[in-house]
Amino acid sequence: MPDIRVLSVASEAVPLVKTGGLADVVGALPGALADEGVAVTTLLPGYPSVLKALGRARAVHTWPDLFGGPARLLAGKLGAHPLYVLEAPDLFTREGLPYADAAGKDWPDNWRRFCALGRAAADIAGGAVVVRGKAQRFDLLHAHDWQGAMAAAYTRYAPFGGAAVPSVVTVHNIAFQGRFEAAIFPETGLPSRAWHMQGVEYYGGFGMLKAGLFCADAITTVSPTYAREIRSPRFGMGLEGLIAERGSAVHGILNGIDGELWNPAHDASLAATYTARTLSRKTINKRALEAEFGLVEEDGPLFVAITRLTWQKGMDLLPEMADHLVAQGARLAVLGSGDADLEAQLRAVAARHPGRVAVRIGYDEALSHRLQAGGDAILIPSRFEPCGLTQLYGLAYGCVPVVARTGGLADTVIDANPAALAAGVATGIQFDGVDAQNVAAAIERTVALYGQKDDWQRLQKNGMKADFSWGASGRAYARLYKDLIG
Ligand code: ADP
Repeated sequence: MPDIRVLSVASEAVPLVKTGGLADVVGALPGALADEGVAVTTLLPGYPSVLKALGRARAVHTWPDLFGGPARLLAGKLGAHPLYVLEAPDLFTREGLPYADAAGKDWPDNWRRFCALGRAAADIAGGAVVVRGKAQRFDLLHAHDWQGAMAAAYTRYAPFGGAAVPSVVTVHNIAFQGRFEAAIFPETGLPSRAWHMQGVEYYGGFGMLKAGLFCADAITTVSPTYAREIRSPRFGMGLEGLIAERGSAVHGILNGIDGELWNPAHDASLAATYTARTLSRKTINKRALEAEFGLVEEDGPLFVAITRLTWQKGMDLLPEMADHLVAQGARLAVLGSGDADLEAQLRAVAARHPGRVAVRIGYDEALSHRLQAGGDAILIPSRFEPCGLTQLYGLAYGCVPVVARTGGLADTVIDANPAALAAGVATGIQFDGVDAQNVAAAIERTVALYGQKDDWQRLQKNGMKADFSWGASGRAYARLYKDLIG
């Protein structure tokens, strides 16, 4: 029997629905916590892809009217772990993206969709689900990002059964806050006392993440550096005051990576598997990647980028960087999607540098693995980065991360400065200040280091041996849960 039962509520989880790193983390948490005596049940919205993967499932609870329509709770499995899916046809069964239509326009009823998810989560955590006459109890509610955050608010202001379970809200990216018009408040079902600065009100509107951060018993974010950074206006984006006020209730716990999915020793999507010991086999993947992207075949450094194409990720600088990189004799392969202007600019750069710069616009999980395996270095010039996963995958695949010194990038990469090189502990290249000049200097450093074969291999091997599995993070979450449950 597990010591603790936790309900984890989010809008994404690998392998069912993913738009970013949040999904990797939510999907990995149950496994990371199982060893710590914590049984995690994950609650997801019934998006078409989720319902399809679930297949025929039994309903364990119904809501005759959940924010304007009927809803059922379906039970299934997320890997080896229990999964609940909120089937609410009026809210979640629609084609398009989780938060927007196919044209990228936010769904106008997002507030209703994620209030419903939060209300359902609060009910479930409070024991609303009864199986064979037995109420399914949870010891703690763990909500992720603004889409899950209302669970903490409902638990606090209107708990199912009258007694609130403790709650944790994790911020995977404070830039996404779930802000809506004040006019929705009367429809949320919250008591009038919740409409307060010390509540769900946020600069005159309704703030879902704000509400969750205010109501949760503890807040976590996904790296110690980001936990500090979001106390300042530049990174806190309006929530810095609340974060600072919550003081020691705010914790930074690094994400781990799933060593089953991300392991070059047995990754089925690669041209050749390899380990730190058989690193020379990585070249087979480099040749395959050059062929796949139509790049000239040569031994010089091959940079990759796998990313949302946004300002946050510093991708507005990529066209200029690409020119600089080509001038240094390097090549670049990009996989990304996002901002339409950036997509067009990148296509233009590729056309300018045939055989040296190639771009794939889109989202392709298997290709992202092949890029990490075939690339020599991965460029991550993020302006802010709560944790970042692509640098961790880069480390595991011997694809040396070249990163801005911020958030989780600062916490997970050891810069190849002279001291770190002499001590033999460096794993990548860090730089300060995301602008064209600093990124260009970092590229020059990387190209120079690549030319020093022994140092370069040392970097790769150090990264591949670094432990970013979920062990330490799982223990940290379990400790926090236990403290809160008391
Ligand atoms: P964020 O969540 O801010 O987008 P992270 O680095 O935390 O950034 O996580 C991004 C995740 O999405 C990683 O698993 C990365 O490999 C993946 N990813 C990003 N863009 C693409 C893409 N175009 N195709 C495939 N995977 C992608």
